[in-house]
Amino acid sequence: MSASTSIAPAGFDRFGLHETLVRGIRSAGFESPRPIQLETIPAGLDGRDVLGLAQTGTGKTAAFALPLLDRLLKVNRRGPRVLVLAPTRELASQIAAEIRTLSKFTRLKMLTLFGGVSMRGQVNALRNRPEIVVGCPGRVLDLQRQGVLRLGQVETLVLDEADHMFDMGFLPDVRKILEGLPARRQNLLFAATMPGEVRRLADDLLTDPYVVELANSAPAATIDHALCWIAEPRKRDLLEHVLTRENCHSAIVFTRTKHRARRLAEQLSRAGHKAVSLQGNMSQGQRDRAMRGFRTRRYDVLVATDIAARGIDVSGISHVINFDVPNTPEVYLHRIGRTGRSEREGVACTFVTGSDRDWLRATERMIGAPIPHRQAEGFESDGKHEQRPTGGARNVARKQSNRPRRLRQSARAAGRGSARR
Ligand code: AMP
Repeated sequence: MSASTSIAPAGFDRFGLHETLVRGIRSAGFESPRPIQLETIPAGLDGRDVLGLAQTGTGKTAAFALPLLDRLLKVNRRGPRVLVLAPTRELASQIAAEIRTLSKFTRLKMLTLFGGVSMRGQVNALRNRPEIVVGCPGRVLDLQRQGVLRLGQVETLVLDEADHMFDMGFLPDVRKILEGLPARRQNLLFAATMPGEVRRLADDLLTDPYVVELANSAPAATIDHALCWIAEPRKRDLLEHVLTRENCHSAIVFTRTKHRARRLAEQLSRAGHKAVSLQGNMSQGQRDRAMRGFRTRRYDVLVATDIAARGIDVSGISHVINFDVPNTPEVYLHRIGRTGRSEREGVACTFVTGSDRDWLRATERMIGAPIPHRQAEGFESDGKHEQRPTGGARNVARKQSNRPRRLRQSARAAGRGSARR
């Protein structure tokens, strides 16, 4: 290996990571550590428990993966030593892909475990005694109960998107899995929000955790987000307008139900778009094909339910279109966070009807500012009959209005990465 390949990219040198990982970081193309990595990597290397309050997209996978890989490389022992639990198959695959890149120059083995694919292949792969297991709680628990997945030697546990696991009803499974882990281990828990159940889990799990908190109650500065008032029956026409007239080359369209996602993707395909749906009624193979096709640009429109709202990291998504508003303000931030990633600009456009006013009021209150209103050409009359909500967000907006938008955003950005011990 040449000397230059072992020099860590600026900023990564401070961590003193194993040389093979430095090569992995270089091959991943990372030039400098993200705020969450600056905070989490030293704590992880010290063996501390970590509570990371951050969304996917912040660089948190490398933040937890690098210290645990470094530790694995210090002692040569086979079999599951790291367990990473994630709520969805897509997120588990994405975490595994990132770990694979970072550990590319090591001999560490990894296995992903999730439902919807044959168990036999997974059981066979376990015979190779991988050091790292990344999986979804259901399948991990099944294999653990069958006695084929033995977790008695796990040194590090990572729970990623713990709040999403709670939303999906996985926390009881997670707690059962934990019963089979050794008491002495390092625990890292990541969540974007902390509902009561997740807080209780964190309290039970973490000992004197290092807390890394990234501000996430506002959209990233790289996202240009706006509302389009529209009557329900005209949503399809407006979608067509945005997809064809607005320099949209890669879009995720979110719908409220699985049925609407499937039907809308079919309608768009018939209208000549390269569209595919992603929703919970699809088999694992269909979901993988849809994601792969979207990543590789075979499809340029992914019509999805909220299974794609979090965690999915596909670069270069130019538009997020909320065909239906999400259930909660938090999900709004998750959804629109699929674009404007890694310092690239993105557009998020939310179709709102008269019945979405309560949602809008709550979302603007959470963000602390009104969401700008946009009118597409030819749809002016749709907005005319609708009114903007009044109340909390307007008052906050008035208070903030003497501060330029960029300034407000950079003030928020400056708050990012602050840590409490
Ligand atoms: P994550 O929050 O882990 O899903 O990361 C979001 C994206 O950021 C992934 O595509 C990572 O590969 C990428 N990423 C993570 N850390 C860095 C870094 N230091 N520099 C550039 N890209 C990064």
